[in-house]
Amino acid sequence: MSKTVLILGGSFAGLHVAHALLKKSIRDVKVILVSKSTHFYWNLASVRAIIPGQIEDDDIFKPLEDALARYPAESWELVIGSATHADFDSKTVDIAVGDGTARTISYDQLVLATGARTHPDAPWKATGSYEQALATLHATSAKVKDAQHIVVAGAGGTGIEVAGELGYEYGKTKEIVLLCAGDKLANGHGIAEAAANELRKLDVTIRYDARAAEVRPSGNGTGKTDVVLAGGETITTDLYLPTTGQVPNTEYIPARFLSTDQRSATVLVDEYLRVSGARDVWACGDVVSQPRAGFFITQKQAASVARNVEAALAGLKPTVAKGPPVDIFACAVGRGRGVGRVNNSIRMPSLVVWLAKGRNLGIPMLKGYIDGSVA
Ligand SMILES: Cc1cc2nc3c(=O)[nH]c(=O)nc-3n(C[C@H](O)[C@H](O)[C@H](O)COP(=O)(O)OP(=O)(O)OC[C@H]3O[C@@H](n4cnc5c(N)ncnc54)[C@H](O)[C@@H]3O)c2cc1C
Repeated sequence: MSKTVLILGGSFAGLHVAHALLKKSIRDVKVILVSKSTHFYWNLASVRAIIPGQIEDDDIFKPLEDALARYPAESWELVIGSATHADFDSKTVDIAVGDGTARTISYDQLVLATGARTHPDAPWKATGSYEQALATLHATSAKVKDAQHIVVAGAGGTGIEVAGELGYEYGKTKEIVLLCAGDKLANGHGIAEAAANELRKLDVTIRYDARAAEVRPSGNGTGKTDVVLAGGETITTDLYLPTTGQVPNTEYIPARFLSTDQRSATVLVDEYLRVSGARDVWACGDVVSQPRAGFFITQKQAASVARNVEAALAGLKPTVAKGPPVDIFACAVGRGRGVGRVNNSIRMPSLVVWLAKGRNLGIPMLKGYIDGSVA
């Protein structure tokens, strides 16, 4: 009898696992991929895609169907919908299907790859359908064009890159302000000082110890936004771009399988990336966030999960999941420069970061997620 591997989430983690399993042509196994969106989104480039005219939609959104169509039709199914409830005892997942119907899918092996979301009005992650993702991206881009004053909140990797792109394009013509909650960018990571220097060169104003406590429409009907800082100061801006607060997409998972950390209810896993306390359930990517959210970490985790799912299907033991050999944290700072460190110690020259990341934000790698060569 045919076995079902159910994968929830059609982004970096989920599509990678799907490719890895389908490429093996495992007999009598069907892979079902559930995705809210019909399209894969190269969100790493979203920071530049908000600058009008820089990146075409088709360069960063690709149909998932194209990725799966290269495998025998009976070996896969793409379900456009959202997981609403997972029952690890009965081995079923309820799906709200995109056409408005509901469906319950039984599985033999389940992979949780539903990632994490950013602010719903921001285009940094795709939180819903393809059409919604496009609308959010286009709306942000239009606001960026019209704004004279822009506040970017959050000085982690995304905030630094967003401020850098805005500074590169508009540093001389618009006022760009980056709010940093502490006294150093990137939570005091080794890149902090270099990133601050690069941003200053692009005329970005960095406000330290500046946490946005409240954000509300300005009272005078001008369409502006008041950003009230924790200290009481109010900054009135044309556009507020939040980059803080990634929330794991885990609402459909029973609470006993999740971290009790109020800020980040990620899925709890063991060293095999098997969900702790559950049978035949695995997780990878930002939904796990160990040791931290990241593209290369997700790639490694997805490869490990695919290997362990294949082993489980064959009745074999899992192997311990491996992470990347080195921890690289690199930020593009505008279209010309970048900052980065290896293992938070070895500095990466700006040219190296630009060559590896900043010049195209990794868009050429998207091809590998469609033709399957990533796995
Ligand atoms: C702006 C930005 C830039 C980044 N740049 C870098 C970088 O340069 N280098 C780096 O290492 N990392 C970077 N990252 C991190 C990287 O994007 C993530 O690590 C990566 O996206 C994780 O992939 P994922 O598949 O685990 O999750 P996600 O990309 O979050 O995808 C999860 C998918 O699951 C879907 N989903 C959610 N809930 C459900 C549900 N209930 N049912 C079905 N589907 C669901 C979502 O819609 C989404 O499509 C960046 C992140 C951001 C926000």
